[in-house]
Amino acid sequence: MVFIVVVMGLLIGTLVTHLAEAVLGRRRLARPMCPYCTAPYSPLQWSATLALLTGQRRCQQCQKTFRWPRLIGELLVAVVWGVLVWRYGLSWRVGYGMLGLLPLAMIMVTDLEAKRVPNVITLPSIAVMLVLGTLFGPALPNLQGWGWKMTPLGALTAFAALRLLVWLGVAVFGEGALGEGDITLATYVGAMVGFPLVLEALLLAFLLGGVGAAVVLVSRRGSLQTAIPYGPYIILGGALTLIYSVEMLGWLLK
Ligand SMILES: [Zn+2]
Repeated sequence: MVFIVVVMGLLIGTLVTHLAEAVLGRRRLARPMCPYCTAPYSPLQWSATLALLTGQRRCQQCQKTFRWPRLIGELLVAVVWGVLVWRYGLSWRVGYGMLGLLPLAMIMVTDLEAKRVPNVITLPSIAVMLVLGTLFGPALPNLQGWGWKMTPLGALTAFAALRLLVWLGVAVFGEGALGEGDITLATYVGAMVGFPLVLEALLLAFLLGGVGAAVVLVSRRGSLQTAIPYGPYIILGGALTLIYSVEMLGWLLK
């Protein structure tokens, strides 16, 4: 069962990562194509994972390798979906959480490829998640006991926290590492996991970001300004909160 879900995750991950590249390139998703020369990919190259495994990672026309964030986006969907079903089995709540992850996989691609968090992805996702979360509770698997306030409060908490951090970043460093896109991204994560788990997601993002910045500084491969964007840490914080929601909720309410 888990194996089937992982394969499905790779397929859906392939679809949403191509959608994300289509958004970046402002083009319609006719069929998967090379982002450099727009030559169509052969079916074996549609999935970055499959292309890597079958040794076809280069475009047949311009010989450039696919952009590696697509691989991360695909694997994010496949791995998190697999872990969710492995831990919680199949239920509509697990499916709800699996769907909630998809906008995050798209942002993983756009943020790593172009340091962009397109509003065309985040704003509709926030709107949909606010409605669904108010009706059915946060998109957490195996959620028991929820109130309609959890979702709007989660979104509001994330929005306020990131707004404050962006202001602080600008005040202290001039140009902060955090951008406006990180605010909308975190707002979506807050709506997805709700309050109080949004605190856990933000804390995880903060810790992972700290570790990432330390690795960059220690390896002297660049300054904090050239470090990778902060969005992926927010996404990982949200994904880990999806996976460990039940344990964390019990721990937070203790
Ligand atoms: Zn090409």
